[in-house]
Amino acid sequence: MALAHSLGFPRIGRDRELKKALEAYWAGKLDQPALLQVGRELRARHWQVQADAGLDLLPVGDFAWYDQVLTHSLTVGAVPPRFATDAVPTLDTLFQMARGVSRGGKQTFACEMTKWFDTNYHYLVPEFSRDQGFSLQWTQLFDEVAEAQALGHAVKPVVLGPLSYLWLGKVKGEGFDKLELLERLLPVYVQIFNRLAEQGVEWVQIDEPALVLDLPADWKAAFESAYNLLQRAPLKKLVATFFGGLEDNLGLACNLPVEGLHVDLVRAPEQLPLILDRLPTYKVLSLGVVNGRNIWRCDLSAALAQLSQAKERWGERLWVAPSCSLLHSPVDLQREDQLDDELLGWLAFATQKVDEVSLLARTLNTPDDATVREAIAASDAIQVARRQSKRIHDPAVAARLTAVKAHDAKRNAAYPEREWLQQQALKLPAWPTTTIGSFPQTTEIRASRQAFKQGRLAEAEYIDAMRAEIELVVREQEALGLDVLVHGEAERNDMVEYFGEQLSGYAFSRFGWVQSYGSRCVKPPIIYGDISRPAPMTVEWTRYAQSLTSKPMKGMLTGPVTMLMWSFSREDVSRELSARQLALTIRDEVVDLEAAGIGIIQIDEPAFREGLPLRAAAQPAYLEWAAAAFRLSASGVKDTTQIHTHMCYSEFNHILDSIAAMDADVITIETSRSDMQLLEAFSDFAYPNAIGPGVYDIHSPRVPQVAEMVRLLRKAARVVPAKRLWVNPDCGLKTRGWPETRAALAAMVEATQLLRAET
Ligand code: GLN
Ligand code: ZN
Repeated sequence: MALAHSLGFPRIGRDRELKKALEAYWAGKLDQPALLQVGRELRARHWQVQADAGLDLLPVGDFAWYDQVLTHSLTVGAVPPRFATDAVPTLDTLFQMARGVSRGGKQTFACEMTKWFDTNYHYLVPEFSRDQGFSLQWTQLFDEVAEAQALGHAVKPVVLGPLSYLWLGKVKGEGFDKLELLERLLPVYVQIFNRLAEQGVEWVQIDEPALVLDLPADWKAAFESAYNLLQRAPLKKLVATFFGGLEDNLGLACNLPVEGLHVDLVRAPEQLPLILDRLPTYKVLSLGVVNGRNIWRCDLSAALAQLSQAKERWGERLWVAPSCSLLHSPVDLQREDQLDDELLGWLAFATQKVDEVSLLARTLNTPDDATVREAIAASDAIQVARRQSKRIHDPAVAARLTAVKAHDAKRNAAYPEREWLQQQALKLPAWPTTTIGSFPQTTEIRASRQAFKQGRLAEAEYIDAMRAEIELVVREQEALGLDVLVHGEAERNDMVEYFGEQLSGYAFSRFGWVQSYGSRCVKPPIIYGDISRPAPMTVEWTRYAQSLTSKPMKGMLTGPVTMLMWSFSREDVSRELSARQLALTIRDEVVDLEAAGIGIIQIDEPAFREGLPLRAAAQPAYLEWAAAAFRLSASGVKDTTQIHTHMCYSEFNHILDSIAAMDADVITIETSRSDMQLLEAFSDFAYPNAIGPGVYDIHSPRVPQVAEMVRLLRKAARVVPAKRLWVNPDCGLKTRGWPETRAALAAMVEATQLLRAET
């Protein structure tokens, strides 16, 4: 009998109950027993959903108060000294590590947060010191195992594996090789496993996603030695790999001295024959065939075709699973009441995905069962209907893409010539000042937008309200003496949703929330079909803004790569194809803005780096098409029109050539927090176009000093010639209030004037 299991379930709750409870607890409006109760209820509900679906083994340890990596740091006793007290860590210690503490003017910085592999989930980076010790300190996992058992469930605890855990951590203080810590860490794993075994646990799932990465030789060797040591633990171990193929680690993974291996067949279906060839048949083989990272209904027959290849030889040692933890899926499609039936039929959220996993196992076990056969037939019918749906395939979009020529993705003149032409047209002063786009989103702005959306405010009144905001923002910028103005983005709720709502091929869920970090969730729009632009999207607002001033007004758009990365994407076409379709819609908008008299247009690409594949070998191809999609969106204009782009981070290692290949006339980036250090990468030699290194951090209400910014700009001018430097904040100002925004920008303009006076 094939067995059905899941690698993990979303913890946030169908109605984001965990988010609400956490935020209430942090605000002092909910006490700890009540918070604990919310967690208990969510776990119980999620286990029940999975048990009702018919899963044979339920994950425990997938619940976390903030982040599963953070929980694991507590479990193994890796609490950074600045949070450690003599007492054992408490739930508040955990929250302090996640959120920092400020007490009596004293700041204790939170642990760093970074992206979990190539997902949009962020984990808290473990910190290791040279004398790092480990000890079993935190009993959440065991408590939750007991909790699930008491509810009558068959459980399979989930633990982050020792190598992946070390890999994800960061060395603090004196440099050393963190792999040296393995020897000290493993005894804690032995203790964890012994204790689980005492609780009657048969199987433990050990997540080792690091096995899908390019690993140095000593790390590969460490996998072998670590698992040799853990071999003696008195329970069965399933090593879980996901987010990619094992590739050069395939032999290593297949031969680890453990009882089972989980592989991701959604991301890497091509590894199946090799796994079947290399994995000893006495081991359990868990095949991840239901996509844990997207919202599409599984093509069950296609999944069955994969499973059948393993069924004969593996028999009851074949397990069926989602590709990865369902943490990355929204919770329940049942909640969606505003999507039409056709689209609903194409979708599956976590609750539906566990049904799919269970159904697949049942199909393997009892293929002649009538309900099973019906379900498979229904799934096939939906796949066929979807493939043929007119909503997905737009011949006009396809025709237009075919007609794209290489020169469409290239500006006419090279940058130096464009720079001269643009200077003739724009006549900007030295050290031109600008902002990144948004201005404070006040409560009134949000209220008008919401009232309009809900039909409580007539369109004409809404337009008047937004125009009044635009006028206010223009007057403020003029008073401040900024050189290149923006309209302030008052009409936008979100930089992707705003455009998605105006494009064909996009749909929006109401409850499709996915945890991003801690209590934060995102609700990515859904790209389901070919994308086109029925009508101009920003032209009227921008034209109006320009009509109010003689200063250049910068048009503001979201780039094709960011539109794609922050949406759920199609699986029936490549990401590249959707990016090119998006690029054409943005290109049309750019051209329309130019025709409306807008001479500077910014195409934001904050998610450009995010799409980078995990394996080095796959990165060049991505960077190539991503930069090309950007250029396709930007190159419909005359050379006199100045194209800006913006990325709100500072990590450009290894991708600078591709950033240069985007060929934006100006790029604005985040630099203030790194003290302009990253700018080194942008030296004259490496990056030829103009750069606006952010001179102050917009994440805090703190108003920067003039002298601070002068110093940063002088520092920048040592790396990049001053004539190619712009002056701007790190990112948009929408989360800030007006008083600090005004003060900070005034100081920024003053700093600029001091520099101008010097030259
Ligand atoms: N133009 C956007 C803004 O100013 C850019 C946001 C971003 O970089 N994430 O808000
Ligand atoms: Zn930004």
